[in-house]
Amino acid sequence: MAGTALWAGWKARRSVCAARPRMPRSRVAWEAAPGHDGRQPEVAVGGTGSPGPEQEGVAVTVIDTDELARRNAGFADGGSFAGLKLMPSGSLTVIGCVDPRVDPSDVLGLKLGEAAVIRNVGGRVTPETLGTLEMLSKVVQARAGGPRPGDVHYAVLHHTDCGITDLAAFPELLADYFEVPAGDLDAKAVTDPVAAVRVDVEILKQKLPAGVFVSGLVYDAATGLIDVVVPPARVEA
Ligand SMILES: [Zn+2]
Repeated sequence: MAGTALWAGWKARRSVCAARPRMPRSRVAWEAAPGHDGRQPEVAVGGTGSPGPEQEGVAVTVIDTDELARRNAGFADGGSFAGLKLMPSGSLTVIGCVDPRVDPSDVLGLKLGEAAVIRNVGGRVTPETLGTLEMLSKVVQARAGGPRPGDVHYAVLHHTDCGITDLAAFPELLADYFEVPAGDLDAKAVTDPVAAVRVDVEILKQKLPAGVFVSGLVYDAATGLIDVVVPPARVEA
């Protein structure tokens, strides 16, 4: 069945975050996969997708575009998008992991429009993350004519059972990711989310402008609760 063919391809790519996978629709991502055979994955069709095989006891369902459109129509009908501004109403930026279990909107109860969210592998503050923040600051300047007034909060959200721990076996990959020599990777604490969130908060404190608040959170995938490892602290001048 289509779901089986898709799932076989997904497993061959070594999923980073071990949880219910999403359909790898990105052609770039698919073609970058090791062992790619040049074929696009088969896609199941139907209102709710077709059930596939199981991994780690979790039933896999392929979500196709018909289903996405159906859900989007429900979202649009709800009207929660109406009148929202580009600037996050909660003055919050979250840096979190791509893991589908750790969507900041869900685990932190964020409403649409409240926070800007940057997600990458591990929720890490990498040079690319800092570049994204720099770009966002330019957008703020363009829209607001300068730094936004009031308190601004940057929260780093790491979590237990993160797939980045599996990447410790690929030091060259991580060295490229963090743009550091492979011999310096210990300082990134990729196998310890509590230590890692402290590392990333310190980087933000060095890079962000004085006056903003920075905090570090670790989400426990087993309990659903966060631990405030680094309470919000204002960046000093
Ligand atoms: Zn993760």
